[in-house]
Amino acid sequence: MCEFCLKHGEGKKWYLQAENYSDDLLSDVRRRKYIESFFTDIESHKKGIDRLKKLEKAPSFIRAIVGRLISRKMKKVHYGQVVPIEDIEQIFGFVNSIVRVACICRHITLGSEKRYCYGVSIAPDGGRFGEIVRGLDRSFLHGPDTDGFERLSKDEAISALRSHEREGLCHSVWTFHAPFIAGVCNCDRSDCLAMRCTVTQGIPIMFRAEYVASVDPDQCNGCRQCMRVCQFGAISYSVANKKAVIDQRQCYGCGICRSVCTKDAIRLEARSDVPVAATLW
Ligand code: SF4
Ligand code: SF4
Repeated sequence: MCEFCLKHGEGKKWYLQAENYSDDLLSDVRRRKYIESFFTDIESHKKGIDRLKKLEKAPSFIRAIVGRLISRKMKKVHYGQVVPIEDIEQIFGFVNSIVRVACICRHITLGSEKRYCYGVSIAPDGGRFGEIVRGLDRSFLHGPDTDGFERLSKDEAISALRSHEREGLCHSVWTFHAPFIAGVCNCDRSDCLAMRCTVTQGIPIMFRAEYVASVDPDQCNGCRQCMRVCQFGAISYSVANKKAVIDQRQCYGCGICRSVCTKDAIRLEARSDVPVAATLW
């Protein structure tokens, strides 16, 4: 279990606790202000990226100190966790509404609209999150078909996430002032700022999943398709055995590799049951 499970989930998966999506949490004014500014103040996201770029050039001990401070702050306001699709299905099963919105990261990194993000709330009729998103500055939503925020059914949302998996995108959940969870994102290492920060720059702002993957060598035919989609460089290929091999110390447990394995050779197991990965978050 990650530290959020202990702190916000009473020892169970914190992101499967319905109260962490509740309207009660969202009634907190500070939290609502944060959400509004998150979606409207694009400039502050850009400044954050510039500061990270400057940090890359700083001496390693400065990077380590500042990195710890950033992680600590983000755990309070906006922290994520990688989540496999079966747990996302559970989340979509108990929230009352799902809205698809344009991804702010892609707006900043690519300058284009990519609808890879999903706002979730268990409150009736879209709840206060629905009110907030409808009132937002739409400057980051451009293009001919961006009117409103798309309401999706659970089945439509799951189908969209399966399609994102085939594109090689990794699912994650996000807090807006922990423990409130308002977003499910679909990330990759080149365009998602959180993954860049966590994986490329070594400043964690998202946890690994509660799972780790492994390959059944008896099923694997060595096609290497799984290596193509792993965002974390966790899969290598044994030339001698002609099989894929997962380094469980590198694996984030997203399960995306399974979606391209035609031999059904990859399984997820609980991170806590895998000694080499149990304490890696
Ligand atoms: S996709 Fe499946 S069969 Fe192909 S190398 Fe990976 S584990 Fe083996
Ligand atoms: S090996 Fe691990 S990190 Fe890589 S795609 Fe599979 S589950 Fe995700």
